[in-house]
This record gives sequence, C-alpha cells and structure tokens, in this order.
Amino acid sequence: MTQEKQAEKLQAIKGVRDILPPESALWNRVEQTARDVFATYNFREIRLPVIEHSELFARSVGIETDIVLKEMYTFPDPTVVADRNFLAGMRALRDLHDAYQKNRGYTIARAKEYVAAAFAGLSEGIERAASRLTSLRPEATASVVRAYIEHGMHTLPGDVKLYYIGPMFRRERPQKGRYRQFYQIGAEVLGQSDSPNIDAEVVEMLMAYLERLGLRGTTLYVNSIGNAECRPKYIEVLRQALQSVSARMCEDCQGRAITNPLRVLDCKVEADQPIIEKLPRITDHLCDACRAHFSAFQEQLKQRGIAYEINWRLVRGLDYYMRTTFEITAPGLGAQNAICGGGRYDGLVELLGGPPAKGIGFAIGTDRLVLSLQEVGAGNMKAERKDVTVPVTGNALKADVGKVFIAWMGTASYPTAVKLARRLRAENFIVELPPEETKLKKSLGLADRLGAHYAVLLGEDELASGSYVLRRLADGEQKKLPEPELVGYLKSDRRP
Ligand code: AMP
Repeated sequence: MTQEKQAEKLQAIKGVRDILPPESALWNRVEQTARDVFATYNFREIRLPVIEHSELFARSVGIETDIVLKEMYTFPDPTVVADRNFLAGMRALRDLHDAYQKNRGYTIARAKEYVAAAFAGLSEGIERAASRLTSLRPEATASVVRAYIEHGMHTLPGDVKLYYIGPMFRRERPQKGRYRQFYQIGAEVLGQSDSPNIDAEVVEMLMAYLERLGLRGTTLYVNSIGNAECRPKYIEVLRQALQSVSARMCEDCQGRAITNPLRVLDCKVEADQPIIEKLPRITDHLCDACRAHFSAFQEQLKQRGIAYEINWRLVRGLDYYMRTTFEITAPGLGAQNAICGGGRYDGLVELLGGPPAKGIGFAIGTDRLVLSLQEVGAGNMKAERKDVTVPVTGNALKADVGKVFIAWMGTASYPTAVKLARRLRAENFIVELPPEETKLKKSLGLADRLGAHYAVLLGEDELASGSYVLRRLADGEQKKLPEPELVGYLKSDRRP
C-alpha cells in the first residue's frame, strides 16, 4: 500500500467530524448556557444511551419516515447469528442440499420435511434477529419517552421536565450544516396537562436561551397540525386535492401524494411551490378544540413578547407530532438554516406502552447553532479561550439554593405570574410555574414535594395591591412584599 493510500484510510468517516479547540470552547459555552437557562425553568438533565432497539424508532418516529427507512445506522445483535433456531434451520437446508446433491434418499416427502423444518427454524431466527436489531439513535425524544415509561416517571410530582445533550446519527447526504453524526440539545415536558401555557413556556425558554447566547436574527415559525380527530380528515382532503395536481409535481411528491401526503408540504423543489401554495391548509381544517389550543398558544406568545410567524407548511417529518409544531431558523446557514424543531406529541407515551400522558419538546441542532453564532459574530474565539478556565458549575449551582414555586390563582393573575417568573429566572432562580390554575393547598403540597424553598402566592387580592405573599416552605413563615422588594429579598436570602 502506498503512503498516500494509507493516509487516506485514516481520515474520519464521511459526514463525521472532529471539533477542535478553540471551537470546542464555544461548544462548551453553548452547552453550559443551556444547562444554566434550562435549570431556571426547573428542567433536569437525563443522560441517555446512544444505542436503542431499532423498534423504538420504528414505532415512534414512524416506519414510513426517511429517518427510519433510509437514515438509521442499524446493526444486528451478533449473538443472533448463533441463534439455536436459526442454526437448526440452516442445518436442515444444508441436509436437504446434501441429499439432493448426492441423490441419496431424496424423495419429495423428505424434501417437504426438510423445507418445513428449515422454514420454521429460519423464520423464528429471523424474527428474533429483527427484534434484536439495534440502531444508533437518530433523535432522542423516543429515548426520553422510553426512559419515562421504563422508570415509572409518571409517578413523580408535577410535570417531568428533562433535557439532554448529545450526539445523534443519521445517514444523510453531508453538506454545510448537515452531518451524519451531529449534536442536539433537547428538552421535553411530560405530564398530564396539555395546556398551551406549557407550549408557550417551552418556547419562551428556547428564546431566552438563544438570547443569552447572543444569537440575533432568528425567526420563530409556529403551526398546529391538529390531533387524531381532525388531522386524518385534513390528510384525506389533501390527498383528494393532490390527485388532480400531483402528476405535475416532482417524482418524490408523486410518491408522497399516495403514501404520506403531509410530506408534500416539505417539498423544496422550485417548480412545485406554486402548486403547493394552492393546496388546502390545515389551519382551515382544525377541529374546535385544536383551533382553541392554537389560538391560546399564540395569545401566550404575544403576552410574553415573543415574535413569531405562522407557517402552515410546518408539518415536521416525524409521525408522533400533533397540535403545536415550531421551528427556528437562524442567519448565516444557507439551505440548512433550521436550528431547532419541536412540537407536541400527546399520545406517544401510550403508543410506546406507557400510561396516558401528554408531551411537548424540542431539539436544537448544536452544530448549526454554533455555526450561526460564528456567522453573527457571537462566537468570538478569543473570548471563548477565557471561558475554558471558568468552573462549569456557575449559575446552575447558585440557582439550586433558590427554588421558587409561583402559586397563582385566578386567570387574571397568570400574566403577572409569567412576568414574575421571567424576572426571577433572569436572576438564576429555579422557578416552577404551574401551567394550570391549582387550588392553594394542592399548590403548596406540590411546591413542597418539588423541594421548593419559597412559594409566591398570587391571587386577585395580591394583584390589586401589587404586593405578593412570600411563604417560606420550611416553616410556613409569610410576608407580603411588592415585586421589587420580593426579588431583592429572595436574592439577599440566597447569599450564604
Ligand atoms: P429534527 O430532530 O429532525 O427535528 O431536527 C432538529 C434539529 O436538529 C434541526 O433543526 C437541525 O438543527 C438539527 N439537525 C437535524 N439533522 C441534522 C443533521 N444531519 N446535521 C446537523 N444538524 C441536524
């Protein structure tokens, strides 16, 4: 082998790359900021395996999706090769072949016997092989849900709020911002409530994170893709509409028009765009409950001062999404400009064999986020070098001595509760804000079980007077304070 050939052999695999210093310091800042900001929303980290049974993704992401059909790195469990039934089947086949070759004792009846034995052994062996296929994870929501079910996390108090950071693997065509090993920072909320307030708080957390990183020029797109009641009806309407136009569309769309009409809306082919623009829109076909959910979500975004655009074509590629979907694009990335995708997936927990539960989450593409930060000048490498020596605990640790539960009562007090939560989070307090109105006694019980240090009681009286009741949970001591003093008091109490 020539030296050149040898050197070629030792390069990293296509679509996979090294992240070198000083860029790695920027990665650390990006990840640490996520930990700090997510902690203030009372999210905690889950560390997940990189390999899972392939079936997990087939059942959740969906058997018809590109990810599962074409992009997963899947391999058999080596022990399957030695499976007893599989080997017995192979032996029966070999015996049949031998008998045939040597023309010894070969009769149709014997052949039938051999074939039947071979078939039984092989099919059982193959069945086992299939059930033991393993994949490198292409995404992590499915794993979070699997872990939620496996560890009975539905019995934990309140909503379960988790975040993860790590590599994902998809065999896509590599290009700028698209890799075969890429990284995601994701978060999920699992629980009993599907309140649009949760959707809005999750988006608020995302935007607060991007702001803290100094990323400017992002656009948030939102949509609702309906639920099990209205989505299938819309898909039928879409399928009908596509019948008369799909012949004029690209080859992929012609296939999608039959197998998965929603995916037509993802098509980027120039010539198809005028046709797609005229297709029926899901926003006009939502059932009453989904329409109310979508408008309440938007109302919440407005109240929180979060700018957004509706993109009716935002259907997301994965089967498990329903109702709210969202995506964030960032500047400087070219064609692959989506840095984050997310949505609601009520029903996924049940689909994977767990108890009824609702869920919503997002995944940020770290590679693209870092690229965009560098493009907008917020990823200054010189500054990063200093960062490396800063201990990684920082804010997250400080926040840990200040967990505040906001017990709001009466819908009128919710906007004030949202503002107070944001104010306290900006000061690195961990804040739990129930998405739905809860009776005071229940709220205080939950605050206690969540390990909160303080509860802020916020009802109509407090709203009218502008002073809120601050209750120390350890001894029940209460004081009434106007907002600025309340924040100041909590800050001074936090200092050792
Ligand atoms: P998804 O899990 O497909 O919703 O993707 C969420 C985010 O992950 C996207 O918005 C991208 O930022 C990022 N992402 C997905 N696939 C890749 C890839 N192959 N390479 C780099 N980033 C990716």
